[in-house]
Amino acid sequence: MLSDFGDLPDKEDLLQDSDCCGNGCTNCILDNKPRPSKRVLLAGKRNVILSYTKFRLLRREALESGSDGQVLLLHFAHAAEEDGEEVGDTVLEIPPGHHVMMRVGSLLRPYSPFWSDFMTKEFRILVKLQPEGPMSRHLQAVQPNDLLEFRGPIGQYVHDPQPAKCIYIIAQGVAIAPTMPLLRQVLDNEDDMSRLWHLVCARNLQHVYFREEMLEFAQFWNYRSCLYLPHQQCDTPACQKAGHCAQECPQLRNNLRYKETAKVSRLDASELGNHLNPAIPGQRVLVVAGDSRFQKIMAQLAIQALDVDPANIYML
Ligand SMILES: Cc1cc2nc3c(=O)[nH]c(=O)nc-3n(C[C@H](O)[C@H](O)[C@H](O)COP(=O)(O)OP(=O)(O)OC[C@H]3O[C@@H](n4cnc5c(N)ncnc54)[C@H](O)[C@@H]3O)c2cc1C
Repeated sequence: MLSDFGDLPDKEDLLQDSDCCGNGCTNCILDNKPRPSKRVLLAGKRNVILSYTKFRLLRREALESGSDGQVLLLHFAHAAEEDGEEVGDTVLEIPPGHHVMMRVGSLLRPYSPFWSDFMTKEFRILVKLQPEGPMSRHLQAVQPNDLLEFRGPIGQYVHDPQPAKCIYIIAQGVAIAPTMPLLRQVLDNEDDMSRLWHLVCARNLQHVYFREEMLEFAQFWNYRSCLYLPHQQCDTPACQKAGHCAQECPQLRNNLRYKETAKVSRLDASELGNHLNPAIPGQRVLVVAGDSRFQKIMAQLAIQALDVDPANIYML
């Protein structure tokens, strides 16, 4: 049976300074106080990831290998037998917008799942390997069946569908991953009348992940997206000479699918202002996923350009 504190970590799992990865995360694990959700309470089970827990790598897929580093899709499942857990005693809850901490020896790094399953206790992350990065070196070598330890969930994003909101979600590169559960949460709820603007910044089309899912989302009345691709460059002489495609480049148009909108520019204050839609009612909420510099710049720009109250800004 669950105590008043639900599935808070056991005493021996209480956090210590050494649990912080030292990267200055907006949502630091040391400030994190995970509370059991209604779903976990109803299930009457323990969230398996509240203390460091072993997960088995089921799938490892290399998505791209370019000058700016390889991206891996990693799919994990809870290794119940390794943790001495009875299968069925636990669930896995990683709420939208939350991340988990990976631990390899004393090395700690946060990662943001883009998909997780409550009952099968599986989750997936996208990892961009950083040249010379200690965790990147380790992940470069991991293979299916290897065991890795994770703890979480860490974060503070909560979405209340009532009243309906205008939610701007800005993502940079691989950090589009944690924005996917946020979007699904709204779009899967027929009663949620919130509107979503998904503004995705990437070098070029090749570096836009989740294009298929974004096209599925585009079928919903309340989802709009725009890709910002400042380094998009096709092989026509004019675009090669300019260093990037022209906005009306026919090759770029051909590469876009139905309902995909792309700009060959950076997302700046004036571009943000184009998504303001002042006639649409509802509190403005901003979510920014990217590195800390990108988060700060976008938050500053959006306060003016999108009329967002700083209290309604979330950094993933
Ligand atoms: C809340 C949070 C969630 C994160 N989620 C993910 C995720 O889902 N997928 C993912 O791939 N990474 C994610 N990261 C970054 C991740 O934790 C590691 O920093 C990254 O995997 C590199 O680790 P490393 O040990 O190999 O290199 P590090 O020692 O961490 O970094 C090596 C070099 O790369 C630079 N660097 C690190 N991360 C980035 C970045 N994102 N963009 C540009 N330069 C960078 C560092 O400044 C350093 O110079 C997240 C970070 C935070 C704070």
